[in-house]
Amino acid sequence: MVSFISPVQLSLPPNPTKSKQSNHSHISETLRTDILYNFSTPFELKQIHAQIIKTESSLSILPLSRVGLVCALSPSSFNYARQILGQTEKPESNVWNSYLKDFAEGNSPNDAILFFYQLRHCNIHPDAFTCSFILKACSRLFKLSEGRLIHSFVVKLGFQSNVYLQNAIIHLYASCGAMEEAQLLFDKMPKRDIVTWNTMITQAVKREDVDKAYDLFVQMPERSVRSWTAMIAGFVQCGKPKEAIDLFSEMEEAGERPNEVTVVAVLAACADLGSLDLGKRIHEYSNQNGFSKNTRISNTLIDMYIKCGCLEIAHRVFNEMEDRTVVSWSAMIQGLAMHGQAEEALRHFSKMIETGIKPNAVTFIGLLHACSHMGLVNEGQRFFASMNRDYGIIPRIEHYGCMVDLFSRAGLLSDAREFIMSMPIDPNGVVWGALLGGCKVYKDVELAEEAIKHLHNMDPLNDGYYVVLSNIYAEEGRWEDVARMRKLMRDHGVKKTPGWSSITIDGVVHEFVAGDGAHPHIEEIDQRWAELLKEMKLRGYVPNTSVVLLDMEECEKERVVYRHSEKLALVFGLINTKPGTTIRIIKNLRICEDCHNALKLITEIVNREIVVRDRNRFHIFRDGSCSCNNFW
Ligand code: ZN
Ligand code: ZN
Repeated sequence: MVSFISPVQLSLPPNPTKSKQSNHSHISETLRTDILYNFSTPFELKQIHAQIIKTESSLSILPLSRVGLVCALSPSSFNYARQILGQTEKPESNVWNSYLKDFAEGNSPNDAILFFYQLRHCNIHPDAFTCSFILKACSRLFKLSEGRLIHSFVVKLGFQSNVYLQNAIIHLYASCGAMEEAQLLFDKMPKRDIVTWNTMITQAVKREDVDKAYDLFVQMPERSVRSWTAMIAGFVQCGKPKEAIDLFSEMEEAGERPNEVTVVAVLAACADLGSLDLGKRIHEYSNQNGFSKNTRISNTLIDMYIKCGCLEIAHRVFNEMEDRTVVSWSAMIQGLAMHGQAEEALRHFSKMIETGIKPNAVTFIGLLHACSHMGLVNEGQRFFASMNRDYGIIPRIEHYGCMVDLFSRAGLLSDAREFIMSMPIDPNGVVWGALLGGCKVYKDVELAEEAIKHLHNMDPLNDGYYVVLSNIYAEEGRWEDVARMRKLMRDHGVKKTPGWSSITIDGVVHEFVAGDGAHPHIEEIDQRWAELLKEMKLRGYVPNTSVVLLDMEECEKERVVYRHSEKLALVFGLINTKPGTTIRIIKNLRICEDCHNALKLITEIVNREIVVRDRNRFHIFRDGSCSCNNFW
């Protein structure tokens, strides 16, 4: 198997045999060259082959590189291609190189390797191109041991200073996970080009080593769009959207023009951060540069607009798409469900099925969310059953979470509990959290306590659950239990995750931390808040201080509640934006009961739409109510 690197063979001089094309004169009238060059399937090739035999012409009149291309693109035609090559007189190296290239880049990289063995068997001497194609095939197949042989082969042939081949070898080691070897080669390279650096960065990102990737990026002597893009995408992938956007600004300053891949990465970062302004600018840029037909960009745009709370623009992008994939449909269905337009979500699903597109696991998450929102318990159960039955999709923990949410929202708490007990996989925090949400609305203390027990075991330091249970106790007037909760939290060392909210005004992100008395605009905010509070109290607002799980005086608790980060961000937004415009806030935690109530009243008082994206979902406050129907 490894005979092809035997030193005896390696020392063979290059074979100068040229293929002879002198047979053209024998082509009969029925076999003109335009026919010869006009086949595009193995079937058509076979027809021409038959003609050649019939007219007693030589096989070498066939354009061999085309034979390779056609056979490479249709699986199982490799043997046929090999047969033709075997029957022709010794072809030139560029002919079989083009075979190798087609196989290595086509659907059958494995055939490229087989083909290479055959060439070596025929004592055909490989050149640098041969090596690069075969390295590519090894990389694509993750065949490290074969790749190592080619590597030593390259060295023996004296090609080791060829930067192109060195890059291919580094790529091979890195993509097969042999990062140390890749790094060693990289360090030893006397001359690296941009491709070398980009390969190392991309591979570091693939291994989620974003620090290493950035380290390389900083050291690069010069950068291409690809380098910038790889790094930006790397940050997004590793959950650092802020760094991604900062780097994108640097890229723009450096005068580099983003390509389609960059656009996808930046839009994904905008979606994560809720940066609508930048997202819109990228959308415009993408249209101006003719990227609007790129399905991936459109899908990312839909996702970005939905996560920034702009369902209508998302819908427009969706409608303008030429080729909608299951990703586009699922994003739209999920978005409609998230924004409380459940019926529309179900209509989209029917349309999708009519179009002949098969749903995937994500589609069903959207559908189940939609059913939850409308209280369509039977419909939801039907969808859940049909997943596996009709589409062969095994429900994942997310789908189970949706089902528990569906039952809980509808007030079918014992059904929800039963469903959890019958799950074939272990329930997670989301599943128990969904039941707890139902217990809160339907005031089922006993079940809430059971849910909390499980939640506590899974995530002992999360304060959110205690707050919910404490609220349930408070609403029932069970003050001793509220006190017990506080003690429990103290004993377990549960720390409150600091809450923050952000609002973007004129492209600048303003962040507010809960209780932020040091904010430069705090006086202005306090003043406006006092005015609002007066109006709110006239409309029946009573601060819900049970959300504060600390021992302090009631009036102090009120002060704490008034300084919740989403309230600060909202008031700042009211002061600094035009009347009538929508205010968009992003909050890192779940929005609390009191802020939820307050925002409902404020949207009515100031007559503006307020969109809050909290950790779990969107709340669109409009005319005194919220799209979540007080269930979150
Ligand atoms: Zn709050
Ligand atoms: Zn809400």
